[in-house]
Amino acid sequence: MWRQYGGMEIPDLSVARRVMSLLDASPTPFHAVQTASQELTAAGFVELEADQAPIAPGRQYVRQGGALVAWVVGERHNAATGVRVVAAHSDSPNLRIKPQPDTAAGSWRQLGVEVYGSALLNSWLDRDLGLAGRVVIRDGDRTATRLVRDNRPLLRIPQLAIHLDSEIRNSGLVLNPQRHLVPIWGLDPEAGEFRGYLAELLSVDADDVLSWDMMAHALTPAALTGLDQCFLTSSRIDNLLSCFLGLDALLALATDPGPRIPVLCLFDHEEVGSVSSTGAASPMLSGVLKRLNAALGGDLEDLHRSRLDSLVLSADGSHATHPNYPDRHEPNHQIGLNRGPVLKFNANQRYATDAQGAAAFTLACERAGAPMQKFVNRSDLACGSTIGPLTAAELQVAVIDAGCAQLAMHSASETAGSHDPGYFLAALTELLAG
Ligand code: ZN
Repeated sequence: MWRQYGGMEIPDLSVARRVMSLLDASPTPFHAVQTASQELTAAGFVELEADQAPIAPGRQYVRQGGALVAWVVGERHNAATGVRVVAAHSDSPNLRIKPQPDTAAGSWRQLGVEVYGSALLNSWLDRDLGLAGRVVIRDGDRTATRLVRDNRPLLRIPQLAIHLDSEIRNSGLVLNPQRHLVPIWGLDPEAGEFRGYLAELLSVDADDVLSWDMMAHALTPAALTGLDQCFLTSSRIDNLLSCFLGLDALLALATDPGPRIPVLCLFDHEEVGSVSSTGAASPMLSGVLKRLNAALGGDLEDLHRSRLDSLVLSADGSHATHPNYPDRHEPNHQIGLNRGPVLKFNANQRYATDAQGAAAFTLACERAGAPMQKFVNRSDLACGSTIGPLTAAELQVAVIDAGCAQLAMHSASETAGSHDPGYFLAALTELLAG
């Protein structure tokens, strides 16, 4: 994405800058869905309550915890109309607070954490960490859920000094997640009780704090870095970058949705296998599609015809070729930053892209004027996966796996290209409009 400026062509970083602000606003899946919900509401989308049926035509969305499905049904759509879905996961590997987290070692106040997903553990060391998540409190004889985000530098996991670690030169850093990752957060033996901390934050009695899904987040904000600001560095690039580009692609079609029904789907729990009520293995998306079919007055045959005409893009980060580890990559499929979205292939269906889906994405990139790259893993390395294959199996529709290239996937701070969000957004918008 380039634009003219004073006779010079400069990269248009407006898409990257917008995504950075959304990334910073979203330290947890719950906040990511909250951020998406606010943007959708501002664009005229209406949130359906749990017991409300979709209205067609209409711009609507449903959400549950860290998951959200939004759609635009236009005047031109009927019950047999296919859908164009961008699906992405809202969760990222991180450290989550245990249910009874208060611990002390000597004079140190510490918080017990559990590793969520396959985090690069070393990336959480010697970093200022805040706390965020959701807390369920007593509300009379009912309960209420509160989102919490504390951006103060509260937690720290100090690495052992090199002088005290004789093995590190030979074996590298070895971290035991139970023993070596317990953050410190104070010294006062009278303070540091977690429930009391949450109660103070929410201005309620400690007895009224019933439970929580709380997690640590790195406090360094997203930034444009490198010479000419060619890099975008941030926490949670995998996979909130895809979530928010999918969101903006849907927003671009909010008033003029194209021949198919555009849908955005954010799932939680991809990093731990997707099997949950809000993960990609849940019937959340298929349930919405069935309800849309009913709202449009369709029957089972219409639903079948709609599926035949449907396409899902599973948007998730892709590995760029690491300059210091070129041997870990397939030499004939080098992936660079700022060279456009990456279409991901795997013969063993770890990615769902097939030739027909690949052709559809190639054409979407062509229409968008975006370059495109093709990724395949080395044949002698195990391949990661995405929600793509699960979604294909659940919906029985064609699925494409694609995303922006990045380094340091699953680090607390990841690196992508600053031009690629613009390219990917343009391609996603074309795909949803196709
Ligand atoms: Zn991912």
